[in-house]
Amino acid sequence: MRPGKVDGAMAYIYGMRSVTATAILPASAALALAAAAAPAAAQSSFALGPVTARPGSTVSGTLTVAARGDDPGTTIPFTVVHGTTDGPVLALVAGTHGMEYVPIVALQRLRTSIDPAALRGTVVMVHVANMPSFLGRTIYYSPADGQNLNRVFPGKADGTLSERIADTITREVIARATHVVDLHCGDGNESLRPYAYWITTGEPQVAEAARQMALAFGLDHIIVDGARPTDPAASLYLSNTAVTRGKPALTTETGGMAIVDQASIGLVERGVAGLLKHLGMRAAGPDPVAAPIWIDRNEVLRAGVTGIFQATVERGHTVAAGTLIGRIMDFHGRTVEEIRAPFDGEILYVIGTPPISKGEPVAMVGTRR
Ligand SMILES: [Zn+2]
Repeated sequence: MRPGKVDGAMAYIYGMRSVTATAILPASAALALAAAAAPAAAQSSFALGPVTARPGSTVSGTLTVAARGDDPGTTIPFTVVHGTTDGPVLALVAGTHGMEYVPIVALQRLRTSIDPAALRGTVVMVHVANMPSFLGRTIYYSPADGQNLNRVFPGKADGTLSERIADTITREVIARATHVVDLHCGDGNESLRPYAYWITTGEPQVAEAARQMALAFGLDHIIVDGARPTDPAASLYLSNTAVTRGKPALTTETGGMAIVDQASIGLVERGVAGLLKHLGMRAAGPDPVAAPIWIDRNEVLRAGVTGIFQATVERGHTVAAGTLIGRIMDFHGRTVEEIRAPFDGEILYVIGTPPISKGEPVAMVGTRR
């Protein structure tokens, strides 16, 4: 493991708002806290891959995932917005799933709209984490190896292309960050209402800092996610890779169905602005969401058969236990499965296109606290 303890403590310092937190910090971290609170602390340059950002500058570059065997490797484009004073390092990752376009387009706006001269700390944007999936226009899985990038973290340096992408992001981005946001939306086939995942399985102070990040991002539906692995060597998910290394992180979902809509882009921009204010990286910004809906229970409903799916509900609909969510027909028009809500709740996403294979998700239902 990397120096996760130190990073974790620093991450908490930058994210915290509670004076009681100092009691649990080691002496070195308390000193760092004092340094972080000092005005205009010296800022050094920030190097990532082939580029170096001087204080008060924005630079872009590309990380290279080297070829291995028959596969040609790939590239990971990024931007570093490096503030004039020392502070948090906020990593924003888009395109972990390559057909989730809203966050990718939102970061293209944010890369020029965040002013480094008015920034404390550093924003690292990964513009397209999963280039093979983006250029190949695939949902869920990489066309290179059939793997879901968001299930192979922390990755392997000598693994498949997806595993090498994960390894590169773990080493170059997550290891450098104090806070991480993995920006998703409904995949190319998913009709989704916006929500965030708050991972509760990390150290208590990391979970609390992540809870505050979720509130600051501003989405009014927050899934309480207590099911992520706690082993840093088998973190599986990008944001959980940060959490298992002692860094608060968030996964967000805004948009879907391969549609690039202004309202969903606006949610990402508002979310990042809220985080920058919350983390003390920028003076102005929107307030945290005041009265979020906490989704304590959720279930991804999966197809029992392969066929043609037709939804009978829409995203955001309220359903009762037993409500018909959709039907799967065989290829000669016979209904072969009816999918029903397992409990009272809300449709967080539902598949919006006809193809469905056995075992794939058809919908996600969540219940409010
Ligand atoms: Zn996704």
